[in-house]
Amino acid sequence: MPDPLRRSLVAAAAALAGIPAARAAQPLDELEFDQIWDVVIIGSGAAGLSAAVEARTLGASVLIVEKMGAVGGNSVISEGQMAVPNTPMQERLGIRDSADRFAEDILRRGSVARPELVRTLADSALDAYFWTQRELGVRWLRDRIESELGMSVPRIALVANLSGSGLIWPLFNRAVALGAACRLRQQARSLILGPDGAVVGLVVDDRNDYRPLRIGARRGVIIASGGFGADIPMRRFQNPRLSDLVGTTTQPGCTSEMLRAAAKAGAHLLHMEYIHCLPDTSPLEKGVGLVWYFNRFCAAAQGVWVTRRTGERFVNELGTNIERVKGVLSVVSSGDEPVAVADSRAVAHPQSVIFNSIDVAELIARGVVRKFDSLEALASAMEIPLGPLQQEVAQWNRAVDGLAPDRLGRPVSSIAEPMGTPPWYAAPMHAKVMMTTGGIAIDSKARALRALDDRPIPGLYAAGEATGGVFGRAFLSSCGLLNAIVFGRIAGQEAARRL
Ligand SMILES: Cc1cc2nc3c(=O)[nH]c(=O)nc-3n(C[C@H](O)[C@H](O)[C@H](O)COP(=O)(O)OP(=O)(O)OC[C@H]3O[C@@H](n4cnc5c(N)ncnc54)[C@H](O)[C@@H]3O)c2cc1C
Repeated sequence: MPDPLRRSLVAAAAALAGIPAARAAQPLDELEFDQIWDVVIIGSGAAGLSAAVEARTLGASVLIVEKMGAVGGNSVISEGQMAVPNTPMQERLGIRDSADRFAEDILRRGSVARPELVRTLADSALDAYFWTQRELGVRWLRDRIESELGMSVPRIALVANLSGSGLIWPLFNRAVALGAACRLRQQARSLILGPDGAVVGLVVDDRNDYRPLRIGARRGVIIASGGFGADIPMRRFQNPRLSDLVGTTTQPGCTSEMLRAAAKAGAHLLHMEYIHCLPDTSPLEKGVGLVWYFNRFCAAAQGVWVTRRTGERFVNELGTNIERVKGVLSVVSSGDEPVAVADSRAVAHPQSVIFNSIDVAELIARGVVRKFDSLEALASAMEIPLGPLQQEVAQWNRAVDGLAPDRLGRPVSSIAEPMGTPPWYAAPMHAKVMMTTGGIAIDSKARALRALDDRPIPGLYAAGEATGGVFGRAFLSSCGLLNAIVFGRIAGQEAARRL
């Protein structure tokens, strides 16, 4: 028997929430739910907040549920670097780029990425960049641009405060100003399906008063719950090498329960085994830290990476991310440790526009990078055999002088100089999980696809790192935020327009 009191309470709550019942895309039985909204978004990172801004702009009532006690996910702790072709910065610096070229770079790197998703990402990138300025007021550095391995031209725009927070706070403020509700400490647990298989809501564990809530979504549920880099059982299941011995740079809420829930609702999970690590993080720092800048822009670019036990190089320091991670994990799993070594020239001029010798001095002061008067002193203190280390430096210098190709195939840049000027610097390294590029299969309208027939699951959308297929085997650096914003915006628009 329907309970009339509960019915009227639910109706009153819905009215208070400003839900425009007349515009309902999906007539829901209000008795089934504690609350009903037009669009419910799981996750408050760049994807979820971009979806919220777009869905509210189109007039849908919007609820964001976030399981952590703070908004932002990995997006807010990111470096705020975003790959975008054809920016005004590139134009100013005379760099010729195009959406086609960007798409080619992603496809070359990812090899099995889905071309239609890559096309959408590349074609929407510049508009997304201008949207962050125009709609949100995000400030970007106007005179600097970064490059990364695998990019055919420099195209990474930098948020002015060099942090994802410079993007996430304007996004959050805009979503709230438009009237989106954001509830913290509410963890989505499962999706609710209607009789026809359409997603009509979700069950949320409310960690504030420890009870489950059934929330209805007339137009759609958007899964923007990010990746699963901190979910050791899931990542070890996908790749047994990624056990608890390998750390992560992600926030702790980066787990896979919504991917499992989507699978239960019938969604395809695609490319789950492509889990990407940073090869050059420090075991002495928590999370991503800062030492990787030294390891990459000083040592990999102009020094050497050797193993502590052998003193020998073990990988092309400028190889692909996959090659370098494989190299580092092999060293670590043999009980050895990789060490990054650079001389004073490399530290005076790191190959980066955002990291310099003053930053190295800070890392030394914190004891996470060490400085030595000579290579002999470095070898002794770091317990690296001196002879092989000297041989490796000499071998690399021969390659720099053009006398012999590098034995590990590392390219020698035109500005490379031989190593040998003291003082010397060293830092231990370890790989940590950074990003997962597998997840819910979507089409270019961000609609989640059903495993049974590859068709969209009505009412279910997904965006950002929770999806799979955009990057394939290996992702191009600084594309995670762009992916979240582009497909988050699309998901918000599509869900809000669903009739
Ligand atoms: C340290 C670090 C630095 C990075 N730097 C860059 C960079 O500079 N440029 C770049 O392009 N990419 C970078 N990346 C990758 C990039 O940050 C991510 O790919 C991107 O931010 C993902 O955005 P998202 O919105 O999909 O997920 P997130 O920002 O991770 O947001 C997902 C949110 O969903 C929440 N959530 C998860 N499950 C549930 C649930 N069941 N119920 C409710 N809420 C849930 C999470 O708590 C989280 O808040 C970096 C990643 C890391 C870890």
